[in-house]
Amino acid sequence: MPTIPYYDWIAHHAGRRPRQLAIHDLHTGRKISYAALDERIGRLTSALAARGIARGDRIALLAPNCAEYFELQFACGRLGAIMLPLNWRLTVPELEYILGDSSPKLLIHDRSFAPQATALSASLLEIDHDRADSAYERALAEAGPPPAAVPLTHDDIGMVMYTSGTTGHPKGAIITHGMVFWNCVNLGIPALITPETVQLVVLPLFHTGGLNCYANPVLHAGGTIVIMRNFDPGQALDCISDSALGITHFFAVPAPYQFMMQHPKFQAADLSRLRIAGVGGAPCALPILETWIARGVPLVQGWGMTETSPAGTMLDAADAIRKVGSAGKAMMHTAIRVIDDEGRDVPAGGIGELLIKGPNITPGYWNNEAATAKSFTDGWLHTGDAARLDEEGFVYIVDRWKDMYISGGENVYPAEVENVLFQIPAVADAAIIGVPNERWGEVGMAVIVRKPDQPLAEGDVIQHCLGRLAKFKVPQSVAFVDALPRNATGKVLKRELRVQFVGRDAPS
Ligand code: AMP
Repeated sequence: MPTIPYYDWIAHHAGRRPRQLAIHDLHTGRKISYAALDERIGRLTSALAARGIARGDRIALLAPNCAEYFELQFACGRLGAIMLPLNWRLTVPELEYILGDSSPKLLIHDRSFAPQATALSASLLEIDHDRADSAYERALAEAGPPPAAVPLTHDDIGMVMYTSGTTGHPKGAIITHGMVFWNCVNLGIPALITPETVQLVVLPLFHTGGLNCYANPVLHAGGTIVIMRNFDPGQALDCISDSALGITHFFAVPAPYQFMMQHPKFQAADLSRLRIAGVGGAPCALPILETWIARGVPLVQGWGMTETSPAGTMLDAADAIRKVGSAGKAMMHTAIRVIDDEGRDVPAGGIGELLIKGPNITPGYWNNEAATAKSFTDGWLHTGDAARLDEEGFVYIVDRWKDMYISGGENVYPAEVENVLFQIPAVADAAIIGVPNERWGEVGMAVIVRKPDQPLAEGDVIQHCLGRLAKFKVPQSVAFVDALPRNATGKVLKRELRVQFVGRDAPS
């Protein structure tokens, strides 16, 4: 079906409204129309083809938020190649693991990440926004006419997005062309996305939230994305207030909303042009939702995962006050269930694991059949999130069943951090739990059993983790105990640790 692959969206809009603004990059000041974006995508397609990139090849991208994410996404789409957006917060060893798992033919990187890129074994192409003759710009300038687009279907892979793994290593969630397309269709309806939409994108584009939730549905509809490189609450409030920018949509995880409402500019900001302010990706505390309601902007909550590309459920704007705290109902064309330990549907009001099925759900993980098999039952994806449905079918995310916590919008899987702790010779046993933190939602706490007569201080543990793990994964505190509570099969009882150190067992 020609409508499913996403490579032709930009050409379609360029044909209808060539001068419509597609991307406004606030950092570089570049404003790119659909016609100009289409032209650059064609040049990049041709430059990549000249480097031997063909269907199925992977191309990694290590860059701050910038227009090149979309140039690469659509150029890969035309070639049938696969984009690997990389989390630039990761350390070199973490990035090395991902590149080893996915073996990209090319790594496109921004100059600001040159030290990391040159430390990785990959063929490089450098973006440098300060130089008109950067390697990337030269490749585009020298490119010949683009080759014809490769015919693709729903199941062709467009991206692989690595998320931290429950087993200690990141897993590459496969994102197909069809998934991205259906996510745009499904999300566009409750999010009221039209060609008039102007979305302010402040979260990283390497994450499904930034790329597939906030940006791609807008480009699919022919609207405009305004990209901020690094989130700044005062600048975000200025942008939303600015009538020349005309921001109509703002989507984010809870932390930016919290920082904005604590900012001195919050009360005077002109929020009147916002049609939809969406929140999701992590538990959103009621006081945040209530503060924004009091300010006249009811936040529309949604729930999703990288694996659901990402919109799974969402409130309608009309329900944002009546159903405050709910993440809404299943998106159109998708279905959700809440099941108990035996796989039976839990009646309204009961808590169980959230399952989801639909055309926007991943077929599995790159190179990892075991993880894929574990994640599905009869085509239903196990989300690892604990949820409750009310009598009207609205979902409330109440807890997490997977061993994971979210720090400033980034998922941290304790298994990955624990592996690093076990490298310390003085550690006999170790566990990581997420503990509440006012700024980041949750941060990691290491609970460690020392080997007899082996000195180890909190600072030694933190120092060991820095350099081996991205900062957001490094535990911020360490408690030393005589033994960890374990069940009969030897599994650490994290609930007991949370009760002991937090005083309760629930995410913040
Ligand atoms: P990611 O794959 O990084 O997008 O993370 C997905 C996870 O974020 C989900 O499995 C949930 O644990 C969490 N999450 C997403 N949306 C919500 C929400 N509205 N409320 C609570 N947790 C959420």
